Amino acid sequence: MRHRPIYLDAHATTPVDPQVLAAMLPYFTEQFGNPASGGHVYGWEAEAAVQQARESLAAAINADPQEIVFTSGATEANNLAIKGVAEAYCAKGRHLITVVTEHRAVLDPYAYLQTLGFETTLLPVTATGLVNLAQLAQAIRPDTLLVSVMAANNEIGVIQPLAQIGAICHRHGVFFHTDAAQAIGKIPLDVAAMQIDLMSLTAHKIYGAKGIGALYVRRKNPRVQLAAQLHGGGQERGLRSGTLYTPQIVGFAKAVELSLATLASETERIQTLRDRLWQQLQAIEGIQLNGDPTQRLVNNLNVSIPGIDGAALMLGLQPTMAVSSGSACSTGKAAPSHVLTAIGRSPALAAASLRIGISRFTTREEIDQSAQIIIDTVQALRQATIKGSVGSRIF
Ligand SMILES: *Cc1c(COP(=O)(O)O)cnc(C)c1O
Repeated sequence: MRHRPIYLDAHATTPVDPQVLAAMLPYFTEQFGNPASGGHVYGWEAEAAVQQARESLAAAINADPQEIVFTSGATEANNLAIKGVAEAYCAKGRHLITVVTEHRAVLDPYAYLQTLGFETTLLPVTATGLVNLAQLAQAIRPDTLLVSVMAANNEIGVIQPLAQIGAICHRHGVFFHTDAAQAIGKIPLDVAAMQIDLMSLTAHKIYGAKGIGALYVRRKNPRVQLAAQLHGGGQERGLRSGTLYTPQIVGFAKAVELSLATLASETERIQTLRDRLWQQLQAIEGIQLNGDPTQRLVNNLNVSIPGIDGAALMLGLQPTMAVSSGSACSTGKAAPSHVLTAIGRSPALAAASLRIGISRFTTREEIDQSAQIIIDTVQALRQATIKGSVGSRIF
């Protein structure tokens, strides 16, 4: 096989850990039963495996197993939480709050609810990407149903003050939802201490498989009612119909267990790598950090590099490094990241940015090589720009 580019895009997805895969494999073949089949041992085995995974996941976030609803990932969990609350409580109020820097899987359900007549408030963030707590408290109205603030940002890694947000929400009697897709397994999450009512999770950012996630739904103090968004066989207490995906669920729990078991050592190791990379990148004149210097995921580095073309930078890095840029081209045409523009970056600086996500499998050698590749590529591009501008002056 040809030499593959260094993978530094862990916020997009991660490979399945071999230990996770090993835990999943028996449930594809010998233990393939449907957890809903109550009449034979195949069903019982699968049901027992799902139950064990449910208990493990609940324990990881200090919840009750009955408060876990398995979904296809964080996108579905966000949709169930947001649309589910809006639909269940629309007689009580029609106002919902979130933040400009949320993932599209939160912003788009909010935009959709607006078309149905709900009112939404999108809070701004500070220059480092944090929510202003006083502004949040002020935005809450008597008819507010829900506040949705992500735990950690997928572009700039900013970690929001969840416990303080939870306290504000509960003081005002509104539900608090958090999209914890980037946070689970990377920072401690405690739904009781943080007063979280709904929390979206996914497996594939922490070395689990794609296509599996969960929504935590609080059952008491306060009890959260949700309107189901998928109707059918009545699985997950009617909240999410569809045959449970046993192998993915077992792997999801294993992935969270592994991440939490190694949390302290991995946090330190990965932070050391991240700080080493940032230190080396200081060789690039004018390089700027995007996001908060301290309130951020240790595996995240997001930088803007003035004076270069973002598309040219990505093109230059592609053969040797897999990273993300600050322009989302999900629809084919590049637009500057809404997160980077929200923290005040110009469209040019947002486009000339790199999102680097370090993983469990990243080595120090890869970090050092990456630093050199980025430095060399930027230097080559800047020289080409100088030559180009000299040339255009001559001709
Ligand atoms: C990846 C991600 C999602 C989407 O999760 P899926 O499981 O891929 O649907 C949602 N929110 C955030 C913050 C993410 O990073």
